Amino acid sequence: MLHDNCAVFAIYGVRKAANLTYLGLYSLQHRGQESSGIVTNDKGAIHLHKGMGEVSAVYADEETLANLRGTIAIGHNRYSTTGSSTVGNVQPLVTRFRGKNLAVAHNGNITNSLTLKRKLEESGAIFQTTSDSEVILHLAARSKERLMRRKIAKALRRVQGAYSLVFLTDDSIIAARDPRGFRPLALGKLNRSWVVASETCAFDIIGAKYVRDVEPGEVLEINDHGLHSEVIEQRSKHAFCIFEFIYFSRPDSKIFGENVDKVRRRLGRQLAREHPADADIVISVPDSSNTAALGYAEQSGIKLEIGFIRNHYVGRTFIDPEQKIRDLDVKIKFNPVRGVIAGKRVVIVDDSIVRGTTSRKLVKMLYDAGAKEVHMRISSPPIISPCFYGIDMPTTRELIASKHTVEQIRKSLCVDSLGYLSIKGMLSMNSLPDEEFCVACFSGKYPTPIERKNGKLKLC
Ligand code: SF4
Repeated sequence: MLHDNCAVFAIYGVRKAANLTYLGLYSLQHRGQESSGIVTNDKGAIHLHKGMGEVSAVYADEETLANLRGTIAIGHNRYSTTGSSTVGNVQPLVTRFRGKNLAVAHNGNITNSLTLKRKLEESGAIFQTTSDSEVILHLAARSKERLMRRKIAKALRRVQGAYSLVFLTDDSIIAARDPRGFRPLALGKLNRSWVVASETCAFDIIGAKYVRDVEPGEVLEINDHGLHSEVIEQRSKHAFCIFEFIYFSRPDSKIFGENVDKVRRRLGRQLAREHPADADIVISVPDSSNTAALGYAEQSGIKLEIGFIRNHYVGRTFIDPEQKIRDLDVKIKFNPVRGVIAGKRVVIVDDSIVRGTTSRKLVKMLYDAGAKEVHMRISSPPIISPCFYGIDMPTTRELIASKHTVEQIRKSLCVDSLGYLSIKGMLSMNSLPDEEFCVACFSGKYPTPIERKNGKLKLC
């Protein structure tokens, strides 16, 4: 299972801004469930609440939200990829310098944070967290520019990698997106207020309307005087994360100018064209591959069935070690519908294979439920390289496709056939040119230099 690392949300100029931020974070929960935080500004007074766990657990009572007073707010859900998973690293990160407040929430990953951090420490900076996002606050604090928007733009010119950011100042919110635009970031309007969010599904829940994307390389400040845009850097080519369409973003969101549902369905259709199967039913691995499975079924003419039921109420499980149950981690989440599966030739559509362990267990469950044949279809190409742009992925060695052929993977999963979508097929399913996308985890070709812990740079 892959994890996105974060979701961000910001709202300017509305009563009880924290309540709407809470709802926005609720709908962005799929991008990070490890921790959550909201910070508000009430005429210069900062109110902050953050904690470990899901949104419903972090803001467990009305009083918590009532204490977050103010008409400006930013919020964050996190799944950590850089920096350890501790409450100190939970965002938004808040700082105060030269009498001014500044808070930040970040989705992405800064690929030159080690070098920047070392330089900042050498010149006296003291870091409060191990999160790469704190580097941005230090760089902004050191800028000689007068306006906060300019300080942030100047800081970001030194930062490489992926960032979709929201900042809270004493009198504005500021949104910024890296010049390649790896992660989505959308601007919306709620009556006379402005909203910024990782995905547009966060607008729907509060009744806000999508206006446009925050452009790659744009720093956008929103205050009482309206919108003010600043350019960090303009690039002729972008690197939109194609995996947002495959898996991370919600199907009801619009990202990079397209509806996720439509692209994901087309991926399923293309998969059926590239890898047809002689089968009785198509099933998905809920919920992430539902839409691609629908596309596969439409194109192939094979009946779509609900073959797995997903338990949505999975929290921590405590089990007596003496009662060891085989494959409990997967069984607790998914259960096959025997009446649907038994005696059938099944096409199972999934969005990706990472290590192969979950897929193997799901296939075994299908055979145990009486499947006659199992044909696995994957709506993305084989993952051969890790992501350095904000997605939590295992190392190259742990990725099953980095060392094995499709036939070897088929054998190890014990399926009758296995088909992955091609890179070309994947890219042809949206309306933007192929060069606009990052496909590094499928190709091993990274669009930026990557800084490794040992200090060596891996260039694209
Ligand atoms: S490496 Fe893969 S997951 Fe990471 S940004 Fe590129 S396409 Fe997205």
